[in-house]
Amino acid sequence: MRIARFSIDGNVGFGVLERDELDVIKGHPFAEFERSGQKVPLDKVRLLPPVLPNKVVGVGRNYAEHAAELGNEVPEAPVTFFKPSTSVIGPGDPIAYPSFSQEVHHEAELAVVIRRMCREVPRERVKDVILGYTCANDVTARDVQRREKQWARAKGFDGSCPLGPWVETDLDPSDLTIQCTVNGEQRQLGRTGDMVRPIEDLIVHITEAMTLLPGDVVLTGTPAGVGPLNVGDTVAVTIEGIGTLTNKVIKRG
Ligand code: ZN
Repeated sequence: MRIARFSIDGNVGFGVLERDELDVIKGHPFAEFERSGQKVPLDKVRLLPPVLPNKVVGVGRNYAEHAAELGNEVPEAPVTFFKPSTSVIGPGDPIAYPSFSQEVHHEAELAVVIRRMCREVPRERVKDVILGYTCANDVTARDVQRREKQWARAKGFDGSCPLGPWVETDLDPSDLTIQCTVNGEQRQLGRTGDMVRPIEDLIVHITEAMTLLPGDVVLTGTPAGVGPLNVGDTVAVTIEGIGTLTNKVIKRG
């Protein structure tokens, strides 16, 4: 099932995608829910970020080839970082190029969406706390990341976390093709099966330390092929079984 968040005529809601229509959900998708039977055509709505996370937890260097391309080793423990809620934008929203960077990179990533409040999740319970999966772009100011020891600015600026286009709930995420194109040209192509640490390990590791809330998002790292984005570029992240997340890079106004 694909669950989208949308707005139409000033109203915001969740809907289940059925071909080219959304079947509007009563309430929200983080508990048992009913469909209202009210249908809205997909081309009449604006798709929003599929969730509004309280926090986005990122994981660095989780694909060996990507770690190597930036001259890094795969770390012994996963590198984790935050992207604030204000970094999240939706499908079709513009990525405003930050004024303090000259080297902004795309990072195509599989995003895990959390369904229920959880902490200290044992490996065998990880599936129970996940609502589904969506596409993410962990947009990174690479020059700032090199310059500043903590990555709050490099990875947390406004618009640096495009998510969408919807959450796919019925998906085995263990070996999916993940791709990034810029202006239609392929930049990244990998498989989620090449993650150094699988999703179960990441959720165990993160929830050892902190509570995850419904709608929180875990980014699982990017495959090799990261590279620059420029003003005017259109960047698209496509993950097998989910869909395509497209955003345009604009000058910050
Ligand atoms: Zn990343």
